[in-house]
Amino acid sequence: MSPSSVMESRGSVLPKLSRRAGGLAESATMEINRRAGELRAAGHEIIDLSAGEPDFPTPPTVVEAARRALSDGHTRYTAAAGLPDLRDAVAARYAGAWGAPWTGRETVVTVGAKAALFEVIQVLVDEGDEVVMPSPAWVSFEEQIRFAGGTPVTVPTDPKERFALRAQPLLDAITERTRMVLVNSPCNPTGGVATQAELEALVRGCVERGVYVLSDETYELFVWHGEKASVAACAAGAPDNVILIGSFSKTYAMTGWRLGWLLGPPEVVSKVIALQSHATSNPTTFAMYGALEALRSAQDDVDAMIRAFAERRSLVAEALDALPGVHCAPADGAFYAFPDVSEVYGHAGGIDGSIAICARLLEAGVALVPGIAFGDDRFVRLSFAASQENLRRGIERMAETLDTLHG
Ligand code: PMP
Ligand code: GLU
Repeated sequence: MSPSSVMESRGSVLPKLSRRAGGLAESATMEINRRAGELRAAGHEIIDLSAGEPDFPTPPTVVEAARRALSDGHTRYTAAAGLPDLRDAVAARYAGAWGAPWTGRETVVTVGAKAALFEVIQVLVDEGDEVVMPSPAWVSFEEQIRFAGGTPVTVPTDPKERFALRAQPLLDAITERTRMVLVNSPCNPTGGVATQAELEALVRGCVERGVYVLSDETYELFVWHGEKASVAACAAGAPDNVILIGSFSKTYAMTGWRLGWLLGPPEVVSKVIALQSHATSNPTTFAMYGALEALRSAQDDVDAMIRAFAERRSLVAEALDALPGVHCAPADGAFYAFPDVSEVYGHAGGIDGSIAICARLLEAGVALVPGIAFGDDRFVRLSFAASQENLRRGIERMAETLDTLHG
C-alpha cells in the first residue's frame, strides 16, 4: 500500500497514542544529524558538525576482537546484564582509577549510556518527582525525565565561569520532592567541568538529604583544563547514593556499537537489570567482546584521539571567537564548542534565535545544533570531534554567513 492510500484509508476514529508519547519529540541532536544526512543524500555538500561523534575509526584491535567473536560463534544471548567478564572489567577500571568499591555484580552493560540513563530514570523517578540538574544540559536528560513523569528542575551554570559545575546551587534546589541530582561532567554541550571537591560536596549534600547523585561521565577522559574528577572516588563513602554512567561511544570511538554501562547501589542495579531483561535483554554479544578488548588494549589509540581533540579544541575556539558577533571561550572538557551568537540576533537578516541561525547555516552547508535544544537560546553547539579539514571549512562557511547577517 502506498503512503497516500494509507492516508486515504484512515478511519474517522483513530486509536490513541499514550499520553507520555504525546509529549515526546525527537532528539534535537539526532534530528539535525538526520537532516544533514538527508540533505547529503539529496546531493548537497553538508559539513556536519552537529552530532558528537569521533571522526576516528574504532581501534583495529577492538574491531578484530568482535570479528573473532562472530567467527567463534558468540552470537547468542548472554545474561541480561551483559558478559560477566565485561562487567568485571568495567568495575575493575573504576576500582583501579578511583578506588571505587563496585564489583561486576554492581555493574550493568547497557545499549549505550543512553539506555543506562533511560533505565535508571525509569527505576528511580515516580510521577511528580523532581530531578535537579545543571543547565544548559544534553537534550535527552529532560525528555527522559519527563517520559518517566518527573519534573526537571534546572539550575543555571555561568558562561563567565566557563559553565563550571558548582555543588551548592544544586543542593539549594533540592526539595522534599527531589529524587536525584543529575550531573554531567565534562558537560555536553557547555564543556563545563566539576572539580573533585565540588563532586564530593555534592555527594555529601545528597547523602544528608537522602537523594541520589546520578553522574553521567560519558566524556570522562576529555578534560582540557583543570583536573579529571569522578563520583567513583566518592562511592565507597556513599554506597547508597552514588550512581555512575559511562560509555564506550566517545572514549573508544564506538558510537555505533551501542555500548555503555551503569554502576551503583545493588538495589538500583538489580532493578535496572530487571528492566533491561524486559526492554533490550543483553547488549549485542559480539560487540561486547570488542568492548572487552577496548578496555584491555586500546589505551594508546585513546591517548592519540585525546591529543587530536585537544589540538582542535583550541583551534576551533580561536577561529569561532574571531567571527563577527560570536564569543567563544575554549571548552574545559568534552568535545563541543558552545559559542554565544546572540549578538547576531535582531540585525538585518531576520535571525531571531538559535534555531533560525542554525537553519541559515544549514542552508549554507554547515550543520550545528541550536542552543535552545540544550536550554539556552543564546548559543549554538559545534562538535569538534570532526576532522580538522571539516572544522576549517565549516567555520569558513559560518564566517561567510555571519558576514552577511551581522550588519
Ligand atoms: N550522555 C551524554 C552527555 C551524551 O552526550 C551522550 C551522547 N552520546 C550520551 C549520554 C549517550 O551516549 P551513548 O548512548 O552513545 O553511549
Ligand atoms: N550525544 C551526542 C550529541 O549530543 C550524539 C547524539 C545524541 O545521542 O544525542 O550529539
